[in-house]
Amino acid sequence: MNNYQTSPDYNTIGIVIFIFLVVLAYYIIRRFRSSTVADPQSLWLNSEKSGALKDIDAKLIDFYHQVLTKYVAYYRELDQPKRKKFITRLHELIEHMEFLGEQGQEINLKVSTLCCAPVIQITMGLDTYLFNSYHTIVVYPRRFFSEKQAAYVKGGVSRGDVIFFSFEDLLKGYAIPNDALNLGLHEMAHAIHIEYFDEAFERRFPQWEKTAEQEVVKMRYQQDPVLRNYAGQNKHELFAVCVETFFEQAAEMKLKAPGLYEAMCDLLNQRPV
Ligand SMILES: [Zn+2]
Repeated sequence: MNNYQTSPDYNTIGIVIFIFLVVLAYYIIRRFRSSTVADPQSLWLNSEKSGALKDIDAKLIDFYHQVLTKYVAYYRELDQPKRKKFITRLHELIEHMEFLGEQGQEINLKVSTLCCAPVIQITMGLDTYLFNSYHTIVVYPRRFFSEKQAAYVKGGVSRGDVIFFSFEDLLKGYAIPNDALNLGLHEMAHAIHIEYFDEAFERRFPQWEKTAEQEVVKMRYQQDPVLRNYAGQNKHELFAVCVETFFEQAAEMKLKAPGLYEAMCDLLNQRPV
């Protein structure tokens, strides 16, 4: 009889303990999840109540922030107002462009972000950051064959409206931020140069070109020139290599070719060091 009376009490205690453990597990999981998503660095992005960012979903802003923080050294160095400017502009550019895989398949937002971030980096000091004629970015998984160049290439810019990237090589460009080799910056510098979409950039370009050509002549006599040889191919490669070096080896450029460094600062209206 006694046994019969005590067994329901054991059941009740068991149920209470079970419920307690479930509730505890729920709070532990919730706390763990929120601590991995809400990085303190990005809190400003969610608390922003005014300005263009209010139109972007908070989760989307956080996504951009996470990708840029992980891959883009330039973004990591920016202060908070400039990070806000970077993401606002980046989102607008991504909305403005079309992204396709090599066989026309959809491209995810992380890849689109990494393709477009170099445009925002180069144009941070300019008023304009949207292309007029380039509206498509085609992403290949790795190097691909270019009929026009009859060779395997890492990327390219058509004279019309398409920019091409090998994603593997785009990532390699981001992986070492100080070797002056960055495929994204290189190809986007070509596209910006071909389009001249910013009025002030176009106006200042002839002065930059004059200085850059004089500096390249001087470099022929230097033992360890700051620009790699490829810059000597033609005017387009000169600009693209200068952009890569300006952002990835700014201090070295300032030291070895101060005239060229100042010309880059004037042209892009920004000063990395
Ligand atoms: Zn090139």
